Amino acid sequence: MKMDSRNSVDHTTMREMNITLILNTLRQYAPISRAGVAVKTGLNKASVSSMVRDLIAAGFIEETGSSVSASEVGRPAINLRLNPDVGYIISAEIGVDFISIIATDFLLEIVARRYESTAELADREEILQYASDLLLEVYQQVRRRGRPIFGLAVGVPGLVDMSSGTLLLAPNLGWRDLPLRDLLQARFDLPIYIANEANMAALGESYFGTAQNSRLLVYVSSGVGLGGGIVINGQLLTGVSGLAGEFGHMTVNPAGLACRCGNRGCWETTATQTALFRDIRARIESGAGSMLLDQTGGKLNQLTIPMIVHAARHNDAVALAALEETGRWLGIGLANLMNTLNPEHVMFGGKLSLAYELLLPVIQAEIDQRTFPWIREQVTLAIARHSADATVMGGAAMIHHDVIRHAMSRQSATGYASL
Ligand SMILES: [Zn+2]
Repeated sequence: MKMDSRNSVDHTTMREMNITLILNTLRQYAPISRAGVAVKTGLNKASVSSMVRDLIAAGFIEETGSSVSASEVGRPAINLRLNPDVGYIISAEIGVDFISIIATDFLLEIVARRYESTAELADREEILQYASDLLLEVYQQVRRRGRPIFGLAVGVPGLVDMSSGTLLLAPNLGWRDLPLRDLLQARFDLPIYIANEANMAALGESYFGTAQNSRLLVYVSSGVGLGGGIVINGQLLTGVSGLAGEFGHMTVNPAGLACRCGNRGCWETTATQTALFRDIRARIESGAGSMLLDQTGGKLNQLTIPMIVHAARHNDAVALAALEETGRWLGIGLANLMNTLNPEHVMFGGKLSLAYELLLPVIQAEIDQRTFPWIREQVTLAIARHSADATVMGGAAMIHHDVIRHAMSRQSATGYASL
């Protein structure tokens, strides 16, 4: 008797895993026929047909057009894809000075978007109220489509206790101990996922970015601060309490500048947009001439990365020297990560990545000097695919991945929050 019940559980688990496998195959290769799914997954055709029938009934898959299959001459093969309208996903990023929100369908195509600056808002309460109001607008917009919403993901620039959805510390916002999921849950009857913004972006890059299916992906995002994430075979490395990937606070220079985390000489103090701007201001204030003075009308607090890129392309000595310094520190940190993790991909995102082409030669020189050849020869170093959307697309990927993993246990999309 016990044997039977265990076999039955194993059978269910196996079927769930195969359902997930089929959905993931459609996610990556659709439009594709049932026979094509069988080849990609290694499952037999009868099993694929049976599970596809259930998934169509549950609304997760739809048949789309037909094509003539070369192996079955004369017989049209019906293709399959994920059903875009089975349900929607909302994903947001609360940045240091902005809020970005997207909604996607189940093909992860963006169907709604909001992006607003928060630079003029006074404090945490105002920013949270504004974020919540914007989310409600997007939520209502998506609700009008009359389909379930699978979840809401929110990325934040700080340390997150993912189990409770608490933002423990966001040094560049000056926030700590914020029960963000509880606050949002009071307003939205949806599964809510709170995560570190760079962790989300890392997951997104491995889910459908440049490093899709990477065996070991290291994602580094540099802007106001510096964050990161490690994804191993599609799974985010969370660490024991969900805080892995705080590369920005590796000490790279014990005698360096004070960091907003309280430490000194963190990588974040050397290899960010903030460090680049500070370096440029220091060079100009000590007397160096630069076209950046004209570009900013003398207001050096209004520097932007595109301005610096433009100046460097015109051989502006200050811009070139500052980019070289920032690139050098980026390369030093990346070399440390490569020697530690032996990754297949290193992806670089965040606002500083807008200067990637100018930074790359210096980064590469540091990597060549500081990593083992057997390690650096295996690495693909590239710019992240989604740049400014990396975090929100990663949040959508996080929810999509969860829905696909549990599609069978829900049986139908109506098991999700639909109010
Ligand atoms: Zn730090």
